[in-house]
Amino acid sequence: MSKRVLITGGAGFLGSHLCDRYLSEGYRVICMDNLITGNADNIAHLIGNDSFEFIKHDVTNYIHVSGDLDLILHFASPASPIDYLKMPIQTLKVGSLGTHKALGLAKAKNARFLLASTSEVYGDPLTHPQAEDYWGNVNPIGDRGVYDEAKRFAEAMTMAYHRYHRVDTRIVRIFNTYGSRMRLHDGRALPTFMRQALKNNPLTVYGDGSQTRSFMYVDDLVEGVWRSSQSDYVDPINIGNPEETTILDFAEEIIDLTDSNSEIIFQELPKDDPQVRQPDISRAKKELDWEPRYDRKKGLRMALDYFQQKVGED
Ligand code: UDP
Repeated sequence: MSKRVLITGGAGFLGSHLCDRYLSEGYRVICMDNLITGNADNIAHLIGNDSFEFIKHDVTNYIHVSGDLDLILHFASPASPIDYLKMPIQTLKVGSLGTHKALGLAKAKNARFLLASTSEVYGDPLTHPQAEDYWGNVNPIGDRGVYDEAKRFAEAMTMAYHRYHRVDTRIVRIFNTYGSRMRLHDGRALPTFMRQALKNNPLTVYGDGSQTRSFMYVDDLVEGVWRSSQSDYVDPINIGNPEETTILDFAEEIIDLTDSNSEIIFQELPKDDPQVRQPDISRAKKELDWEPRYDRKKGLRMALDYFQQKVGED
């Protein structure tokens, strides 16, 4: 019998790409999502596939799955700053209660458990680039705290289940990722700039645009998760593309890429917006033999078709 994986948040941007990948690796896939930020369109092409099953469920409540499970990929959570500002309680609940429920299921089924953690555990970092042994600089009561602290709690809970209940766990800390199935209005820099540039509207750069980010193409993320789930390495691993850019340069890059006439306008910087972000990926290279295959130029060209189509429908 082929292996069986549960993907929470499976109808989201990352979760749906993981559904595709694990199906193509011969797994039977259960996709679980409450569809508050996920979208059924992302998995519409999988309906009717005998190896695929969709369960609409909020994982902050008791999770029931019948039959065996080999692996749980816990990806359920709002993940863009405007979503977790709009849904602060759900964000805290899914990272805490949802992770607890998913770990309980892993223990009951004797399944491996992989947590989608985040570069946000480093907060507004005081070291650069960020390696996994940096403990972070997070404002627990700030607007972003609901996401950052929920994910930090999720990591703590994952390690407690590993140490106390001997659950076989993995933690990946995911840095900014982009690609098809991102929502055009999720408020993040990349889809926002793509939409604005393709409509020849002004690009809204927050602050003076000197803050940096490091953007990874979604196929690289999927490969990193796949390798982590197949490896024996338990401690957290950064999965991100170290190619760093300021947000202002990034806005100009998107204007060039889309051949746009847009100008750039400056708006207020959100509170606690990290000033820098760049992954140190030495651990992923050593433990998973993983590094990104798409530089930003190539990845953005790959993603452009999708955004053009989405803007056409907007
Ligand atoms: N940003 C921006 N204009 C926008 C949206 C975002 O300048 O319309 C900035 C944001 O303040 C942050 C960076 O771009 O410094 C990346 O933001 P994003 O929301 O993509 O994710 P984050 O890395 O902050 O979680």
